[in-house]
Amino acid sequence: THLRKMSTMEAIVVEKQGGLDALLLKKWPRPEVIENTIVVKNHSIGVTCINYIDTYHRSGVYTLATPFIPGREGAGEVVQVGPGVTDFKVGDRVAYLSTASYAEYTRVSLEHVAKIPTHVSYETAAAAVLQGLTAWTMVRDGYPVKAGDYVLVHAAAGGVGLLLCQMCAHLGAHVIGTVSTDAKAELARGNGAKYVINYSHENVALRVSEITGGLGCHAVLDGVGASTWETSLAAVRRLGTVISFGNASGVVPPISLLTLSQKNIKLMRPTLFQYIVTPEEFNKWWGELFGLLEQKKLKVKVHKIYKLEDVRSAHEDLEGRKTTGKLLLKL
Ligand code: NDP
Repeated sequence: THLRKMSTMEAIVVEKQGGLDALLLKKWPRPEVIENTIVVKNHSIGVTCINYIDTYHRSGVYTLATPFIPGREGAGEVVQVGPGVTDFKVGDRVAYLSTASYAEYTRVSLEHVAKIPTHVSYETAAAAVLQGLTAWTMVRDGYPVKAGDYVLVHAAAGGVGLLLCQMCAHLGAHVIGTVSTDAKAELARGNGAKYVINYSHENVALRVSEITGGLGCHAVLDGVGASTWETSLAAVRRLGTVISFGNASGVVPPISLLTLSQKNIKLMRPTLFQYIVTPEEFNKWWGELFGLLEQKKLKVKVHKIYKLEDVRSAHEDLEGRKTTGKLLLKL
């Protein structure tokens, strides 16, 4: 055993869920390694993927016991290895999904952590892990996208949205993206969206109908929620699939199952964590995602890297719909 010089660290702490003021920069006890865990010195911390989840956690849409350190993902260097850990050593570069990542150090249990391939940066890894896995599981399992499909992606210039556009295009689909501004439209186009609908001045259902010859889309991927739900139902084709994976505009209100019978629609509401319960599942999806990144088949757009102490601006920008791609924090 050795004496550690520092027993505290900088962290963002929420003592009471609420507005941006709930995010406090504090000196906080540095996590100690325990059996079957590692401690990671964070180099890059993801704000969104569960990005939006971070804002839900802060504001109380999803309730958590306080005080807590927000954040669900990060990438960094292993600085301590607990008893029982054989797959990691001090110095390894890793990315992980774990709570309490808005901090200098995070204790990570072994379920959702893996080494980063050599030529993938900390930033790319931190930016890709949650949103990338969310997007990839959605297009491979939620609705296995096929060549020639028409797929509608809402918030196409968002973090998950840009990845969905690239992945669907990679799989050979015709991607239709929805966005609120021309700048976002440009970005969505650059990431694989063949058609982009600016819903600020275009009717989405009507445009989808024109583009698809009146048939609608094979799949609609909707992370916006309350405000897009009706459009999603209108835009899907007979026998098509609607995947509702987020609530950026609010939670989708309860629906009658009979609604689905109008076109024999399949409806899914996935959460990434139910896809990565076993080590086999996690390794499969991680391996496929990082394979795409390594082969440069997928690129991650980082909107901006904020300092940890500027986390309030990051949340403000995200909620203000000002962002495209992924938000990161650094120490
Ligand atoms: P985004 O970068 O996509 O940001 C949200 C975007 O949604 C905005 O930029 C905006 O784009 C659009 N939007 C439309 N209406 C609103 C509104 N009222 N308020 C805010 N935004 C609105 O965020 P993320 O990529 O981080 O996340 C996308 C979604 O994916 C979220 O709902 C998130 O919760 C979900 N998610 C789900 C996971 C899962 O496991 N199910 C995992 C990770 C994320 P525009 O201006 O173009 O309309």
